[in-house]
Amino acid sequence: MKLTMKFGGTSVGSVEALKKVAGIIEKQRRQGHQLAVVVSAMSGVTDKLINAAKQAEAGDESVAHQARLEIESKHAKTTLAFLGESPAREAVMTQVRGFLDEFELLCHGIRVLGELTPRALDVISGMGERMNARQVAAILNARQLPAEAVDATELIVTDGHHGGAKPLITETESKAQVRLEPVLSAERVALVTGFIAATVDGVPTTLGRGGSDYTATILGRALNADEIWIWTDVNGVMTTDPRIVPNARTIPQLSFVEVGELAYFGAKVLHPRAIRPARQANIPVRMLNTFEPDNPGTLITDKIDREGHVVKAISAIRYLNLITIAGTGMMGIPGVAGRTFSAVAKTGSSVLMISQSSSEQSICFVVDSKDVLEIVSALKEELSRELERRDLDEISSQPDVVILAVVGAGMKGTPGVSARVFGALGKAGVNVIAIAQGSSEYNISLVIAQGEADTAVRLIHDEFHLYE
Ligand code: ADP
Ligand code: ASP
Ligand code: MG
Repeated sequence: MKLTMKFGGTSVGSVEALKKVAGIIEKQRRQGHQLAVVVSAMSGVTDKLINAAKQAEAGDESVAHQARLEIESKHAKTTLAFLGESPAREAVMTQVRGFLDEFELLCHGIRVLGELTPRALDVISGMGERMNARQVAAILNARQLPAEAVDATELIVTDGHHGGAKPLITETESKAQVRLEPVLSAERVALVTGFIAATVDGVPTTLGRGGSDYTATILGRALNADEIWIWTDVNGVMTTDPRIVPNARTIPQLSFVEVGELAYFGAKVLHPRAIRPARQANIPVRMLNTFEPDNPGTLITDKIDREGHVVKAISAIRYLNLITIAGTGMMGIPGVAGRTFSAVAKTGSSVLMISQSSSEQSICFVVDSKDVLEIVSALKEELSRELERRDLDEISSQPDVVILAVVGAGMKGTPGVSARVFGALGKAGVNVIAIAQGSSEYNISLVIAQGEADTAVRLIHDEFHLYE
């Protein structure tokens, strides 16, 4: 089989974890599988790099130096444990130090200029993956598992949208195949950096935070892998975030559509865009636990299972604002919705959920809090005449809301699901601010106040007995 695997930050974040990773890779290689392995940065490294770059922009370079020392010592400790005092270790550490020198130099430039561009941030935030791919390849080589580190800047071609670039499929397919197929055919493990990519002109980009999942599915599709295995720190996709609901349970099987809805609405276990390449190429995805490798985790395929629980999982997306455009005069004005969303689109922000009341007296929609000021001012400009004439009464924005997504293929055509959701919340006094149902009918989304999010997730989890 040809497998694309991905190990997340915690899975490669310590000596103990990396021993598990090496064991997993060894086992699959012994069975003769071809492996393209994507790795994240060691846990905490990306946050440190980004924070240092931001502090440099604010005038403080000392944070970068401190981050450098901490990251260097993390790699020094890990390489020592696996490679001892050896030339192999020295080779990795020379590369690590090279990246960290460049990082400090970049932070110095940012401090002097007082500006951190999205392009520079992408270069800096991707360094953790570049260091780690080299480290993990050396660990495997030392175990007589031939491996080669490859920067995904050589494989994945994207547009120039820094901080959340989109892959160009055709270009990526040919580059990835040309570079990786010979490595795999030579029975070597391709050890690829997650998260990073480059434009057609070779300018480094990133796929957005948590983007290594996306790297794995993009490469899975490009290489036409038999399966994609995402190794993380829990037993697959669970009924909800186990940090919020301790009795959350693993869901053994899910469809691409259901996982897509969950990931889009904040289930951190998978990057929101990651499922698309796998779904398009119909490649099964397994979500597995590095720390319990024998647990079957979750298998994600195109098979839609409407048996069992009607609601399968709940996710929450936080730090949002609800924008409302309201006015009794709205009824007769053609095109208000169209103009509203065009104005939002021009700001480059995305709308997560829309709901319009049938009386046409208000439109409300949910956006990321960081975009809200820009959106409201764009709307005030676009709709200034209507506001002056009092056809529109106001454009208001409510901060600190979350969207809860209640997901399950069995909901399609099953009456009474919403009633149970609202009943459970209502009985406990949780106020629902807005509602939307996706066209797939696999998802009901509710907007509620952020302070009530955890309680609401628990209530719905209990109502549908998802712990069973
Ligand atoms: P990685 O570093 O491996 O990419 P992440 O921290 O990004 O791991 O994602 C895994 C985490 O996602 C889990 O530890 C868990 O706390 C969180 N999580 C949120 N929602 C879910 C869910 N529905 N199922 C499983 N894990 C979830
Ligand atoms: N290291 C990157 C991040 O922390 C990408 C990833 O881990 O998926 O966002
Ligand atoms: Mg992740």
